[in-house]
Amino acid sequence: MDLNKYFIDGRWVDALGDTRLSLIDPNTEETYGKVALGSDADVDAAVASARRAFPAWSLLDARFRIACVERMLEIYLSRIDEMAKAISREMGAPIDLARQAQAALGQRHMTNYLAAMKDFEFIRPLGLHAPNDRIALEPVGVAALITPWNWPIHQIALKVVAALLAGCTMVLKPSEMAPLSATLFAEIIEAAGVPAGVFNLIHGDGLGAGQRLSTHPDVDMVSFTGSTRAGIAISKASADTLKRVGLELGGKGANLIFADADEKAVERGVRQCFVNSGQNCNAPSRMLVERSIYDRSVEIAASIAKSVAVGPSDQHGAQIGPVISAKQFERIQSLMESGIAEGARLVAGGPGRPADLNRGYFVKPTVFADVSNDMTIAREEIFGPVLSIIPFDNEEQAIEIANDTPYGLTNYVQSQDHERRMRVARRLRSGMVEMNGQPRGAGAPFGGIKASGHSREGGRWGIEEYLEVKSISGWSQVQA
Ligand code: NAD
Repeated sequence: MDLNKYFIDGRWVDALGDTRLSLIDPNTEETYGKVALGSDADVDAAVASARRAFPAWSLLDARFRIACVERMLEIYLSRIDEMAKAISREMGAPIDLARQAQAALGQRHMTNYLAAMKDFEFIRPLGLHAPNDRIALEPVGVAALITPWNWPIHQIALKVVAALLAGCTMVLKPSEMAPLSATLFAEIIEAAGVPAGVFNLIHGDGLGAGQRLSTHPDVDMVSFTGSTRAGIAISKASADTLKRVGLELGGKGANLIFADADEKAVERGVRQCFVNSGQNCNAPSRMLVERSIYDRSVEIAASIAKSVAVGPSDQHGAQIGPVISAKQFERIQSLMESGIAEGARLVAGGPGRPADLNRGYFVKPTVFADVSNDMTIAREEIFGPVLSIIPFDNEEQAIEIANDTPYGLTNYVQSQDHERRMRVARRLRSGMVEMNGQPRGAGAPFGGIKASGHSREGGRWGIEEYLEVKSISGWSQVQA
């Protein structure tokens, strides 16, 4: 497999640069293909195409843009099994997870954005006190969309569909480690008849194409999802051209389990931490447990972790697959070693591959107990199936531990006491709080604060990310 074409100006064109990156199957550690990494000239061509397409696309009636996304959704559904296979192949998600969660999220985001457009007002009144004023929401311009590999279509759909509906034109640069799903998504956009130049796809790495996009004078905005490290680099690189920068970064979520939590709370927390082999920015990777139920909870967590199967991604079932790369595998191993060295108690899993797997980046589902919040495993985002359990004595202390982190993406609360839930939810410093296992509703904004970034994606908030606010007076002849 040689991915050497980019989608620019409505056509598949040859990559201009000659650098290739090998694509490695995380199950086997073998090369299954290569992808051409975009050069400056490739980026420039894609940006120029988006720039040319912007005036017409931005002025189109929103109903036309909605119709484009409706067609995309229809085609996406007809190719959703292919999408699941592409995702599973490129980043190692087991095929059932890839179909039921990963690929399904592409559908969900398109559906939710279309629902948000139903009553979305691009021109809004300021208020009864100023009848001749209007607030117009207008597309930012050319958006560079830079995405990671862990939930590839989730992140691509959140950005591309919102930007399309808002009236922006765009250049998507997906993770160089997950180019298959993005290529298929571009084919879907092409088949849906989105006008040439509105959506452009290039492949490339961070320091090459990513950096070029972040500094490009003709890019008005960068929307980035990925590591906090790269988010800082992009913010600095974008500063000279004063781009708008949207950031969705890492996390180190706390899951506060109070003594009155429901009996499934611990099991739920463990499983959620291990989903997608723990490669989730919103993983509840710090489990904070009230002292009176601590010992029992550690036992439950260890036994659940030991029961979680690990295996190849082409097999059906609920197993967890490999992590993405040798680099990530090594990093997880060294973080586990640091947990042991710093005095955490290993109660399940640990360093090394599962006994029955002698190749591939497979990691044992791992639980550390007696973790203190200043240990490396409690501070750093591990991005693997590794849970840290920390005891607490009272509500105040639980909130303090939860908030004592550079990150602020998702926190979780488990308690039957609704007064406490409401109190604690308001005091947790994060963009999202999920309680008692209830998922956030359709169209709820996804995003964080602090080192987790500051954009909001999904629903109407996601569309507003791509809009500028214009204040207009003297709109009508009505006298104030
Ligand atoms: P990464 O930061 O290495 O790469 C993400 C993307 O940024 C890739 O496309 C990469 O090529 C590009 N990139 C890297 N360095 C760049 C630079 N200097 N300039 C421009 N582009 C650059 O992250 P990753 O390893 O692909 O993904 C894992 C990270 O993503 C984790 O930290 C995870 O928490 C985070 N993440 C956050 C969210 C969220 O919504 N908050 C969601 C998923 C993943």
